[in-house]
Amino acid sequence: MKPDLFQAPDYYLLDDLLTEEHKLVRDSARAWVKKEVSPIIEEYAQRAEFPHQIVKGLGEIGGFGPYIPVEYGGAGLDQISYGLIMQEIERGDSGVRSTSSVQSSLVMYPIWKYGNEEQRMKYLPKLATGEMIGCFGLTEPDYGSNPGGMVTNFKDMGDHYLLNGAKMWISNAPFADIAVVWAKNEEGRIHGLIVERGMEGFTTPETHNKWSLRASATGELIFDNVKVPKENLLPNKSGLGAPLGCLDSARYGIAWGAIGAAMDCYDTALRYSKERIQFDKPIGATQLQQKKLAEMITEITKAQLLTWRLGVLRNEGKATTAQISMAKRNNVDMALTIARDARQMLGGMGITGEYSIMRHMMNLESVVTYEGTHDIHLLITGMDVTGFPAFK
Ligand SMILES: Cc1cc2nc3c(=O)[nH]c(=O)nc-3n(C[C@H](O)[C@H](O)[C@H](O)COP(=O)(O)OP(=O)(O)OC[C@H]3O[C@@H](n4cnc5c(N)ncnc54)[C@H](O)[C@@H]3O)c2cc1C
Repeated sequence: MKPDLFQAPDYYLLDDLLTEEHKLVRDSARAWVKKEVSPIIEEYAQRAEFPHQIVKGLGEIGGFGPYIPVEYGGAGLDQISYGLIMQEIERGDSGVRSTSSVQSSLVMYPIWKYGNEEQRMKYLPKLATGEMIGCFGLTEPDYGSNPGGMVTNFKDMGDHYLLNGAKMWISNAPFADIAVVWAKNEEGRIHGLIVERGMEGFTTPETHNKWSLRASATGELIFDNVKVPKENLLPNKSGLGAPLGCLDSARYGIAWGAIGAAMDCYDTALRYSKERIQFDKPIGATQLQQKKLAEMITEITKAQLLTWRLGVLRNEGKATTAQISMAKRNNVDMALTIARDARQMLGGMGITGEYSIMRHMMNLESVVTYEGTHDIHLLITGMDVTGFPAFK
């Protein structure tokens, strides 16, 4: 793979809206990605293998629980810093950002928000350093966009719960130490349970043959009469709103992350357009290639403004689920379109692993589907503005 020469576009001088702390956090994540992710990621993606050696570094740059309070091992940062870290990590690879998002918003967040003090102290500090890795089990073979229909269930056996069912498409599952699993009790109410690797009847087979997020491990979670200790139930929130609250936090991070992938594709295509000579002039001097680049930087700038404002709203506790949906949908679609155009700009070279674009493009095909598909987020916006849920 080519050396990482990335230069971040900032067309509207958005750095002026950031604090010194934001810039420090962003720059250290950026430097870490250049040093630790860029040199190795193509090889790991080609081999469809997660690079375990980066886990410790991810913890050190605040990639695990950036906004979790320091007393629980988190970095205690605000939502803009959280977003900037996700942007930088996904600039390197969406699969690495997925590991970070799952650990932060789908494992640490529910333990912090819905767990009790013993659970927080037991799990959060180890998750923050990466000593422990978690995964989040919501999706099932027959319930993806409609998770409320889930059939995974647990029964109260007096001194423990008995968990049965299966989850599918679970990031980090093959090597996770713990899983935050969403299951229905005997009354049909959804609760979160912390299931630990090693519990009898709990297995995590890996999902192979993915063409997307190849450097992120995906698998199933299978529960065959798993005895879960009663103290592993998250006591402070139940119902579908509990997992959806985690998704709000993760989707917000994805909205930022997608900008990182888009910036990397744009920056690569811009540099290539100045160097590649055809018909005796750089391809960047042709109107058709300039149209692509001009539209890319316009869309990146709009997405940057959208997420920055959303970050301010989240810091103020005012961001709605529908606002987060809009940003996730817009920014991932924007990044995917830019990746496809950038790939074309590199001609034949665009399909090789010499450049990051094709990997970003394939990764974004998962990002546009997981954490709510492109169409489902449109329906959320539609419901928000009309008051009519069109899902059913
Ligand atoms: C690589 C990867 C990693 C993932 N990681 C996790 C994870 O860690 N944890 C987890 O729980 N899940 C995870 N997922 C699952 C992901 O969230 C689901 O794939 C996603 O929610 C879509 O569900 P589905 O695949 O079952 O598609 P379906 O729900 O079957 O949807 C199929 C199509 O139908 C459309 N559709 C569905 N309902 C409607 C409707 N009412 N109106 C119009 N169109 C509709 C959808 O938009 C989509 O285009 C992951 C998925 C992938 C690919």
